[in-house]
Amino acid sequence: MEKSGKSENHEFSDELERQDISHGYERVQIPFIRVREDDPMSVPEFKYATENEYKGFKPEEMDREGCKEDCTCQSPSSTAPPCPCTTPLSPSPGPFFECTALHCLCHFTTCTNRSLQKGTSLNALQIRYISREKGFGVFTSSEIPTNTFIGEYIGEYHNTSSIGQYTLKITESGILQQFAIDSQKVGNFTRFINHSRLDPNLKLEIVRVFHIQPRVMLITSRPIEAKEELRFDYGTQEAFEDGSLPGLQ
Ligand SMILES: [Zn+2]
Ligand SMILES: [Zn+2]
Repeated sequence: MEKSGKSENHEFSDELERQDISHGYERVQIPFIRVREDDPMSVPEFKYATENEYKGFKPEEMDREGCKEDCTCQSPSSTAPPCPCTTPLSPSPGPFFECTALHCLCHFTTCTNRSLQKGTSLNALQIRYISREKGFGVFTSSEIPTNTFIGEYIGEYHNTSSIGQYTLKITESGILQQFAIDSQKVGNFTRFINHSRLDPNLKLEIVRVFHIQPRVMLITSRPIEAKEELRFDYGTQEAFEDGSLPGLQ
């Protein structure tokens, strides 16, 4: 049974060992924390990646109008015109774009619209082993506010649907573009985020960066408490249909 809030069988005080599962590829450490003697010695083997690996095709560069130097993406409190990159095109909800060096004149460091390019900066995420049934999960050691960027769902990227235990299969509504991201062999820490239909605290957003091919961003859908497990349910997302359950072991 799923319960909201804390995972009931978890000791946050004890810690036997911690290993950074990102091997330094993230800006912050993503430790796997062993708390019990009978926890696995490490997470299952996979190739840690910070970008999707496109399988059987090359992504196409996108030709579009970006933002100017004076843009709200550099300061959300600015009275400048709204950043065209964050304004969805029709059909609604339409694609959102990140600002890029290819399209935009805003500055990389001050731009607030380059989450996927900058990667997670949350120094609170950790992997823990939950149980034989649930496998591993991703937890936070401190509170996270709503609408916080957690990470990109990364893996082997197919432009057709494919089936696998770790495959996130997505149909973009309106545009009807199908793609699938399989994180079994290649991925990042998001492959350990479990599915929850009853009480998800993350949602998925489709974002385009340099290419026409969409990418998937995970953001918080409500405030998350310290020690809570991160979970998402793509089954109820308007932009998504169908899918298997990533994160299950
Ligand atoms: Zn821009
Ligand atoms: Zn920008």
